[in-house]
Amino acid sequence: MMRVESLFIRGARVVDPAHAHDGVADILIVDGVIREIGKLAAPADIPVIEADGLIAAPGLVDMHVHLREPGFEYKETIAGGTRAAAAGGVTSVAAMPNTKPVNDDPSVTGYMLDKARMAGFANLFPIGAISKGLQGKELTEIGLLKAAGCVAFSDDGLPLMNSGIMRRALDYSRAFGALIIQHAEDSGLVGCGCMNEGEVASRLGLPGIPNASEDILVERDIRLVELTGGRYHVAHISSGGAVASVAKAQEKGLKVTCEAAPHHLVLNDTDVGDYDTNAKMAPPLRNKRDVHALQEALARGTIGVIATDHAPHEEDSKRVPFCHAANGVVGLETLLPITLELVNQGVLPLSKALAAISCNPARLLGLDRGTLTPGCMGDVVLFDPQEQWTVTSQALHGSSKNTAFAERAVKGRVKYTVLAGRIVHQEG
Ligand SMILES: [Zn+2]
Repeated sequence: MMRVESLFIRGARVVDPAHAHDGVADILIVDGVIREIGKLAAPADIPVIEADGLIAAPGLVDMHVHLREPGFEYKETIAGGTRAAAAGGVTSVAAMPNTKPVNDDPSVTGYMLDKARMAGFANLFPIGAISKGLQGKELTEIGLLKAAGCVAFSDDGLPLMNSGIMRRALDYSRAFGALIIQHAEDSGLVGCGCMNEGEVASRLGLPGIPNASEDILVERDIRLVELTGGRYHVAHISSGGAVASVAKAQEKGLKVTCEAAPHHLVLNDTDVGDYDTNAKMAPPLRNKRDVHALQEALARGTIGVIATDHAPHEEDSKRVPFCHAANGVVGLETLLPITLELVNQGVLPLSKALAAISCNPARLLGLDRGTLTPGCMGDVVLFDPQEQWTVTSQALHGSSKNTAFAERAVKGRVKYTVLAGRIVHQEG
């Protein structure tokens, strides 16, 4: 009998940034675990993937995903969201807590974990809320949530505005070794803004959101990190000023990190074009100078993680006037090709780019994923780095189709996604 959780991958270019490994090799996965990597003979009783011409990398880790279940299943379910992850080569997703009910209680955490396990497409690592009901007033039971399986804490979708609560959250994060993830937008400065403040917003007659909304909150939080020694991470950083603050904090040795979303790394406010609601997100697409600053910070390592902020929305919440449209775009299935676009443009080398979507986020969340080390889970993505294709919203696997990259020509296509030795996605 063939053993389904075992797999032999023959002759791939194996790139494992966790060990600076890059070379042609075979991968043997037995009972869901990576057994050996090198020039190997295929065992007789397990399936074989011929991977000549493909790159084998650790299954991707996306530390910022909205799965919408419980409560918003009409936007996406855990099964549908993790199916989209598999199609994008993402084997581990960290799910934000802005569900209904909010993931501020171990029962919700357990529910999410069960749903993901039953679906079987990807590993789910829930992120617990910092404040009860995302109200920004009262802290959740961080210890209990951690014990239930939460790998980090965030009120994402909403900024944590109360400095006292943020201070205490950072205090707790030190005690529990937990990561606090901030959606850094000063809500007073965001006001009714719906895109980046600047020339384009003026021309379109739309109220703008200044960079200062992000810069100010990141600066405040860094002061609180100095006060507490907590571990702090900026979600979807978008402004050059905020990135500069993070760089300074890192130079001082503070535990401050950040992630950027693919759309903030390659799109800018001119992509709002003719009021395209698929270019509406929070924080908004900034100007070209900010995009350039983000790319430089990624190359330098100030930004260590690329995370999608995958935010499914049903058509009705995007087919409305720009200012009324819901924020956010889906991103799981375009994460790899957009990251490779940065490589092809010479922004950063392949191994560093893959680190930003595998071992770096895994390390931040304390996960034993994002590497092909023997003894680790057999989570692997196999992709053709040369294949060109065009993103179409209809071809996406999730139930919501709100991509910012529709009709974009990209290069690099996921061929197989392997989760613990099992093929969970196969292309063509
Ligand atoms: Zn957010």
